Amino acid sequence: MNDNASEKTTISIPSTGLIARWQNIPLYARIVFALVLGLLTGLMLGNDAAVLAVPGKLVLRLLGALAPALILAAIVHTFMTTQLGGPLAMRLPRLLLLNTLVAIAVGLTVANVIQPGQGAGLSPPTPHDEATKSANPLALFLENVPKSLLGPLGDDGKVIGVIFIAVAFGMALRKERERPLGTVGHLVELFLESLIRILHWIIALVPFAVFGIVANIVGTEGFAPFKALGIFVLSVLLALAIQAGYYLLRIRFGSWVRPGELLRGGRDALVMAFSTASSTATMPVTYAALKDRMGLREQSASMGALVGANFNNDGTALYEAMAALFIAQMIGMALSFQQQLMVVLTSIIASVGAAGIPEAGLVTMTMVFTAVGLPVEYIPVLLTVDWFLDRCRTAINVMGDMNVSCLLDGTHKERV
Ligand code: ASP
Repeated sequence: MNDNASEKTTISIPSTGLIARWQNIPLYARIVFALVLGLLTGLMLGNDAAVLAVPGKLVLRLLGALAPALILAAIVHTFMTTQLGGPLAMRLPRLLLLNTLVAIAVGLTVANVIQPGQGAGLSPPTPHDEATKSANPLALFLENVPKSLLGPLGDDGKVIGVIFIAVAFGMALRKERERPLGTVGHLVELFLESLIRILHWIIALVPFAVFGIVANIVGTEGFAPFKALGIFVLSVLLALAIQAGYYLLRIRFGSWVRPGELLRGGRDALVMAFSTASSTATMPVTYAALKDRMGLREQSASMGALVGANFNNDGTALYEAMAALFIAQMIGMALSFQQQLMVVLTSIIASVGAAGIPEAGLVTMTMVFTAVGLPVEYIPVLLTVDWFLDRCRTAINVMGDMNVSCLLDGTHKERV
C-alpha cells in the first residue's frame, strides 16, 4: 500500500469532538436517547411534528435500496463457498425448511391470538400523503434517493441516483483499492463487504430516524401506537421462547445431546449472538461450542454452524411474519388466508436472503411487505424496537443452527 499516495487523497470528514463523542456511544444507547428526545419533542410540537417523519423515510428508502443487492450477494456468496454434498447434506434442506415453517407458524399463531396491533388506530397512508410529497423539498430530495441500488443503472434513468450509488461505493471501496483480486470468489466477497459497509452507514442514521418517528407519532397519533408496540415486543419474545422450547423438545427426542447440554455448551454462542446481533460474527463460536464443548462430529457441527448460519434464520422468519401481521392489525387491514400464505412464502425467502448481520431482517422486510401489498411506510415504526428484537432473534437463529447440528449428529454419540 502506498502510504504517501493515500495520504494525498485522504478526504477529511469534519469530526468535531461532539460527533466523535456521539459515535463512541453504543448504538442501542443512542437509539434510547433518540427515543426519549423524540417523545418529548412530539409532546411539545403536536401535529407540527409531522415533518419529522422524513429521516425515518430516508432510512427505510436506503435500506430498501440495499435489499436486492444484499440478498443477491449473500446468496451468491453462500452457494460459492459452502460445501454442498455428502449424505448429511441431503437431510439438511428438509430440517431447515421444517424448522423455518414451525417458526413462521408459531409467529403467526401468537400474532393472531394476541393481536398486538389491535386498537393502535393508525390510519393507512392516503393519496393525500402522495400529493403533499411533491410540495415538500425534503420529500423531493427523498424522491431522488434510489429505490433500488440496481434501478438507476437499469432503465429508470435517474442520474442523481447513479451519483448516490457512485459516491457510496467510492467511499466504501477507498480502503480496498490496493486489495489484489485473484479469483471470482474475491470479487463477490468484495461486493458483499462493500454492501455491508454501506449498511453500517445507514444504521448510523437510525437514531435520527427513531427521533423523528417517535416525535411524529406521539405528536400526531398520541401514545396508542406505542402501547401496541410494547405488546408486539412481548408477543415476539413469547413466540421466540416457544421456538426455543420446540428446539429443545426436538433435540430431546432426535439427538443424543441432552437439552441441558445444548444450553450449557452453547451458552457462549447464544450470549455472543445476543450481544453482536450477528449470527455470522458468532459462527466460529457456534462451531467451537458444537464441536469442542458438546463433542459433535466434525461434519454435523460444520453443516449446522457454517451452512445453517447462512441459510437458516428461523428467528428472522418468525419476526418478519409477525411484523407483517402486526402492521396490518395496526392499520386495521385484514390479511386474507392467501395473503398470510404469501407472508409465509416471502418470509422464508427473506430469512434465507438475510445475511447474518445486524438489521439484515429489517432490510429484507420491505420485500415481504411489498409482496402482500402492505404499506412500507410503517416499517420505520419498527426501527424503534428493532435494535433489541434483532438481538433476540439472532440468538434464536444461532440456536436453530445448533439444533440442526444436534439432529444431524443422530441419536448415538461418536465413539472416540
Ligand atoms: N441479525 C440477524 C442475524 O445476524 C439477522 C436479522 O437481522 O434478522 O442473524
